[in-house]
Amino acid sequence: MTRIAVIGAGMGGLAFAATMRNSRHDVTVYEQANELTELGTGISLWANGTRLFAEIGIATSMAERSCETEAAYFRNEDGSVAASQRLARDNWYRQEYGLPYYGAFRTDLQATLLDVVGRENIWLGKQLTRLDDSGEEATLYWADGTQNAADLVVGADGIRSVVRQTVSDTAHPVFTSNSAFRGLAKTALLDRLTEPHSFTDWMGEDMHVLNFPIGKDFKYQTIVVFMDGPEKWEHDAWRVPANASAIGKKFAHWHPAVGQLFEHVNLAERWGMFQVSPLSSWHRGRAVLIGDAAHGMMPHHGQGAISSFEDAIALAHVINDDTLSSVAAKFDAYERERKARGERIQTSSRSVNDCLHLPAGAARLERNRVLNELGRHFSWLHGYKVGV
Ligand SMILES: Cc1cc2nc3c(=O)[nH]c(=O)nc-3n(C[C@H](O)[C@H](O)[C@H](O)COP(=O)(O)OP(=O)(O)OC[C@H]3O[C@@H](n4cnc5c(N)ncnc54)[C@H](O)[C@@H]3O)c2cc1C
Repeated sequence: MTRIAVIGAGMGGLAFAATMRNSRHDVTVYEQANELTELGTGISLWANGTRLFAEIGIATSMAERSCETEAAYFRNEDGSVAASQRLARDNWYRQEYGLPYYGAFRTDLQATLLDVVGRENIWLGKQLTRLDDSGEEATLYWADGTQNAADLVVGADGIRSVVRQTVSDTAHPVFTSNSAFRGLAKTALLDRLTEPHSFTDWMGEDMHVLNFPIGKDFKYQTIVVFMDGPEKWEHDAWRVPANASAIGKKFAHWHPAVGQLFEHVNLAERWGMFQVSPLSSWHRGRAVLIGDAAHGMMPHHGQGAISSFEDAIALAHVINDDTLSSVAAKFDAYERERKARGERIQTSSRSVNDCLHLPAGAARLERNRVLNELGRHFSWLHGYKVGV
């Protein structure tokens, strides 16, 4: 039996522990927070994520708690439609990818994962400060002064990963010179939205606003405002208090439905958008990275959480695969399956930001042509199946 320490009870760590729930290995999840408060607004769960839900053990629960969004609309500042793509409408998305797209509360996803893993199986208040992998076993040093030992260490500790310091001497989070504000509003209050059961990107120069329905019966909308800037992030924290009315003023000349979003959403914080600089490898010795620790990315593909699920499943498969006889062979197989894809999603998410923020002109026409054929351009993303 291998002792596996998972550092971080976020999306990737919980998905890994859930997938390993019936394995013969001893999996322990360590989380720095003192309590598991569920955080966040909404989350997009595309087919490459929902395809994994049965194996993770969350398929039924998430089907009961999510909505199937009808279409994706891309609109200009004045509300005119630049491009659109069917999703659940005409059953297009399920026919194309075999699985649904869900709009969900991030809190529901987190709570569902916690139910599968069992809250009693997570050690809280355990902040990793250092990992020593030089001896017969890995030693985990916690901020509370205690230590634990493990045979394998899964770094699921997010974009500011401590485990990553063991794996790479140089990789670090890089500020993308972009920031976001996000919140929730009741769909019933947003009567100027002509397509409240659909996903809408309102696109302008240097900024865009996104609204998409989440939860059973489309009752809430997640609203996210993305802006280029500031050039530098001057704060230690990656979320800082924001002046919501000043943000709304920047969109005063946009379509009235956008103005109404700002009337009903509380955008109390500005989120700095970071991504992880490239790593030469995702593992070293007994330590391996998943999720944002390996490929923290901009959120424009809605793939941060579900790509961590892809990592979690692939890693669980190689660890449980007895034909791979050494740790190095297992981690190499995991990296071959995941690293190029993780980096591709990361790079593509970055370029989506620039596409959505184009100034008026010919480049927008070319972008709209691509957006009208989303199914063709992004089948590599939504059609992926873990191959190990
Ligand atoms: C504005 C915005 C919108 C987004 N929208 C979407 C979306 O629609 N769809 C989507 O899929 N993704 C989305 N994401 C991204 C998604 O939330 C993340 O990519 C995802 O949570 C990554 O999962 P993770 O497990 O790698 O890291 P996290 O979920 O960040 O979890 C890391 C965990 O590790 C713990 N931890 C950190 N350091 C330590 C330590 N030293 N010791 C112990 N524990 C530690 C943390 O407390 C945390 O619980 C969005 C992100 C942003 C910023």
